[in-house]
Amino acid sequence: MLEIRFHGRGGTGTVTASRALAKAVFYEGKHAVTFPSFGAERRGAPVLAFARIDNKKITKRTQIYEPDIVVVLDDSLLELTDVAKGLKENGICVVNTKKKPEEIQLSKVVKVATVDASKIAREEIGLEITNSAILGALAKSVNIVSLSNLLKAIKEVFAVKLGESAAEKNCNAAKRAYNETTFGQCKGGKSYQEHQPWLPTVDELPIGTIIPKTKVKTGQMIGPGTANTRITGTWSHKKAFIDTEKCIKCLQCVFHCPEGTIHREEDIIKVDWSYCKACGVCINICPKSAISFITVKDIAEIISK
Ligand code: SF4
Ligand code: SF4
Repeated sequence: MLEIRFHGRGGTGTVTASRALAKAVFYEGKHAVTFPSFGAERRGAPVLAFARIDNKKITKRTQIYEPDIVVVLDDSLLELTDVAKGLKENGICVVNTKKKPEEIQLSKVVKVATVDASKIAREEIGLEITNSAILGALAKSVNIVSLSNLLKAIKEVFAVKLGESAAEKNCNAAKRAYNETTFGQCKGGKSYQEHQPWLPTVDELPIGTIIPKTKVKTGQMIGPGTANTRITGTWSHKKAFIDTEKCIKCLQCVFHCPEGTIHREEDIIKVDWSYCKACGVCINICPKSAISFITVKDIAEIISK
């Protein structure tokens, strides 16, 4: 199986590029799956798309962490993102840039193909949408699709989206990029700051529930338990119980509980059973297996002690 990761920016056709590639792969008689990774997307924000190619049916649907090929549609991303992260030793990085492969620095030394897809797109399409040109460079760089099947796919995908004339221009951009792609090896050793997902420590967490119960204009109550008129704790006879001996206060359960019912009580993490609907999310997420279900009968015993 061949795995490709696309790095682009919102609004520059990254996802369309991966779709057109998948279509070209079908014309080759192979299987392909593509899918984007969307966060809080907006035009210009970094986006990812993934493609898997194989001779047999593909069932894997996870994101791609160790790609064979990385495609970068905008070289400003090289400063922000470790695009070579996980790229296999014998992999290749195809980059839209004015630079020669030797002038590029990534986190490790890998084979690099470069093409000035922005210039080609400006001249052939009249817009700096680089997706078709970068596909031409990709087809030249690795033996996955023929240029003719790629052009057929681009024509079809772009004609539906943008009309026949735009599709033709995009084919011209792909053809030009195919012929203007250069190969070499990049420099390695570039370091990137790791972006850690933010989680407060237990001491930073305010005591009590995070979202206070609030009455909105329309009269409903919002906050923990979704509404205090719906006591979600009545939905089940089981309740989540935290073993404080095992709990390391990592707060995973606090942020995953859909009812917002897990909270800090002085120095322990506790479940408000009035709202615990026994969905089991906290049990699955707890890294220390500190949470288990107990029955209402057990609760009565705990309370009576
Ligand atoms: S089972 Fe856990 S995650 Fe689900 S509502 Fe109860 S405390 Fe929250
Ligand atoms: S996920 Fe488990 S270990 Fe982490 S705070 Fe919750 S109960 Fe404690």
